[in-house]
Amino acid sequence: MNREEALKKSDDALKELSESLRQGKSETLLKYLSMLSRFHHYSFGNCMLIVMQRPTATLVAGFQRWKELHRWVKKDEKGIAILAPMIGRRKKDDNAKNGGSGAVGESDNEPEAKVVRGFRVAYVFDVEQTEGKELEQFTSLAGDPGDYLLRLEYVVRQHRLQLDYVDAILGGANGASYGGRIEVVSSLPIAQKFSTLAHELAHELLHRGDRRDQTSKTVRETEAESVAYVVCRGIGLECSTRASDYIQLWDGDEKVLMQSLELIRSVAADILSRLDAETEISPALPGDPPTANAPNATPMVTVDITSVREVTVAG
Ligand SMILES: [Zn+2]
Repeated sequence: MNREEALKKSDDALKELSESLRQGKSETLLKYLSMLSRFHHYSFGNCMLIVMQRPTATLVAGFQRWKELHRWVKKDEKGIAILAPMIGRRKKDDNAKNGGSGAVGESDNEPEAKVVRGFRVAYVFDVEQTEGKELEQFTSLAGDPGDYLLRLEYVVRQHRLQLDYVDAILGGANGASYGGRIEVVSSLPIAQKFSTLAHELAHELLHRGDRRDQTSKTVRETEAESVAYVVCRGIGLECSTRASDYIQLWDGDEKVLMQSLELIRSVAADILSRLDAETEISPALPGDPPTANAPNATPMVTVDITSVREVTVAG
């Protein structure tokens, strides 16, 4: 596929994607978001405690909340310790004891103030530690990219990027981009693996250096996922609403897409034309090692998460 053809394919796919974004949130996304809303947002300190004890945690909740969701904690699973505030009501007596005014005329109808009386250790469990009724899933991607996965890995190497397949990523993400190095979870279904790799490659190509500081997370995720969408469509994968759902999960919309359209189009067309180039796919490029540890590599981390609500990882 030459560049002209690749640009044409990109335009077609981007038209589809903007139409899908215009339609708003899909049924699947709405159900997924409603499921997520039943999970509590933990404080930063508790998020750190959770990540330290269980780096791959995605959805966490207490024993009772899991029960309400018709799921049960599996036998022998150890809870993740967090700190829960003990809320009490300030009694009238307290006021007097603490030298308060106890003012004459203080109304009996005044609501009692709630105060934090201390903290206790509480335990929560990650979704992986539970079983029972299936939770709503994020839209998945079906199909088989065939040898395009190998070809995409080759494109990654052409860009002098290191690629590591790993068992798990912090916060239960599917992929992460570290500036010179990409990680993808090895157990993903093959279409998802292909799409995740295209997404992380887009982060590497678009969001290193200054542009990373000048863009919001919404813009970066919209750009990376749009590139992945175009590349997936370009090789014939059925994508349903996954990309538009993902973009909306990060508050992106058609307007955000339009503002970055040229950039997305150009990067996606470049990847597509490289994917179809008549090259012999060799296991490694001779010569230059990956640049992950090059002195001028800008440190950056982008961890891509669709499921996490409780554990928020900066990136
Ligand atoms: Zn991303």
